Amino acid sequence: MRVLVADHQLISHKLTYLRDERTDSPTFRRLAEELVTLLAYEATRDVRVEPFEIRTPVAATTGIKLANPKPLVVPILRAGLGMLEGMVRLLPSAEVGFLGMARDERTLEAVTYANRLPDDLAARQCYVLDPMLATGGTLATAIRYLVDRGADDITAITLIAAPEGIAHVEAALADLEVPVTLVTGAVDARLNDQGYIVPGLGDAGDRLYGVVPAVG
Ligand code: URA
Repeated sequence: MRVLVADHQLISHKLTYLRDERTDSPTFRRLAEELVTLLAYEATRDVRVEPFEIRTPVAATTGIKLANPKPLVVPILRAGLGMLEGMVRLLPSAEVGFLGMARDERTLEAVTYANRLPDDLAARQCYVLDPMLATGGTLATAIRYLVDRGADDITAITLIAAPEGIAHVEAALADLEVPVTLVTGAVDARLNDQGYIVPGLGDAGDRLYGVVPAVG
């Protein structure tokens, strides 16, 4: 797996406010969207394109446009939903599919509870959205699922990743023949014994959807 850690002061600045426990849900959602748009710029560097003939007011020229089939964006519910707007702002013609996965808090294993994806994923470039790469179980399960359905190029976008999670995904997907890339805003120090990323930002789903009371 290729791992790209976004090295940009603006991303680190926004991540700092995202992590801050004083940041309320509306601000958290806005920051998450902005961060995803910045990360998506890096993540779509190799999006597939095809030549496109146009005329400018001055001359004929050949440009490019997104190739068909269009990329598929797959937020992992529930927290990945908070990344969708930021992603489709950059890729408005992408299709969107959903995977509902939750972590069993006892075993820390990923469990699938919903799946809304196109039937045919053959030759699809997929962008998987999940803000926190913690143990890696969810992401590894989701990526294998998409590849089993025919996807042939996967890029995962996370806001924060733990070294243990990256190692787990790499080991779990070592036999895959399709290219897998991880683009993340930061790689943090470690996981704690409850599977939370340290320093991290807490539970991304709770912070996105207001379980933590908003200030003001
Ligand atoms: N999921 C989260 O939302 N936060 C973590 O730190 C780990 C998993």
